[in-house]
Amino acid sequence: MSNDLDEFSVIEHFFRPLIVDDEVALGFGDDAARFCVGDDEEIVVSKDLMLEDVHFFRRDGGFNIGSKLLRVNLSDLAASGARPLYYMLGFSKGAGEDFLREFCAGLKDAQDEFGLSLIGGDTVRASDKLCFSLTIFGVRKKGANLARKNAQDADLIFVSGEIGAAHLGFLQNSGQLGGENGLKAYFAPCPRVDLGVALLKNGLSDCAIDVSDGFLADLRHICKASNLDGVVFLDKIPMVKELDFKQALSGGEDYELIFTVKKEDKNSVLELAKKLKISLTCVGYMKKSQNSAKVRVLDGNNNEILIEKYGYRH
Ligand code: ADP
Ligand code: MG
Repeated sequence: MSNDLDEFSVIEHFFRPLIVDDEVALGFGDDAARFCVGDDEEIVVSKDLMLEDVHFFRRDGGFNIGSKLLRVNLSDLAASGARPLYYMLGFSKGAGEDFLREFCAGLKDAQDEFGLSLIGGDTVRASDKLCFSLTIFGVRKKGANLARKNAQDADLIFVSGEIGAAHLGFLQNSGQLGGENGLKAYFAPCPRVDLGVALLKNGLSDCAIDVSDGFLADLRHICKASNLDGVVFLDKIPMVKELDFKQALSGGEDYELIFTVKKEDKNSVLELAKKLKISLTCVGYMKKSQNSAKVRVLDGNNNEILIEKYGYRH
């Protein structure tokens, strides 16, 4: 098929069906959309851009690319403890109708899983590389405080899931490693939306980040923002077996949550893990910093391991 479908047919045939919530998203097809939130709620917004050959390859297929675009945005809301509602799409056409159909199926798969709706966007023709962006809107209780800067001395550090699976998938997808067992984590990460919402709602954490750049790099964001050291025990960090720990901890794209918890809330967090049927692991604690706030990784003998690479740098 042609790359020549005009903008309005693309919008009408492919994007319009992703608009679940016609009543609320008043204004689709008009110059702007609008939605309402409750008096005691605040809106949380996040945006991600994905560029061909940087964040994805065309051969990854439209489904994987669309699905992942929405999932990584959802992960930012998860780290904010917000419930996702709507998203807007920046789309560059030029990859053909099959790609477009799969891309929308990927979006639909992810939006159905997390219960949200498209409300608008913009469409252009790609001149060379494809580029997609997504802006996501969620809500949380007004005045809520879940942020990177809120960690306190002696807080415990928790992480969800298992670290390194997505990087394993990246290496497998690019032919650098054999096997396929990481591909699902790489293409269809599972943003921890329910976890973020529950942490905030139950007052169990006020500091969280999602792991996009790498476990060590993202924990370091918490350290810098909170002006504390993060001490983690290598033996405690749940990691895939196929990678060495340096690769796993700096690989990135895990889309798990790292969050801090008061000591007295440790058991409540473990209870929450059972309730949500996910693994939540205590991997260390925050500590007053001697000089510059940093991540300190300790081995089984409590010796500090030298870290050269923390993660992906933009
Ligand atoms: P305008 O010229 O006023 O920006 P457009 O012609 O770009 O309007 O878009 C027409 C309508 O289609 C708008 O409501 C817009 O939100 C929607 N739209 C355009 N592109 C997309 C897209 N990629 N995804 C969802 N909605 C889109
Ligand atoms: Mg426009």
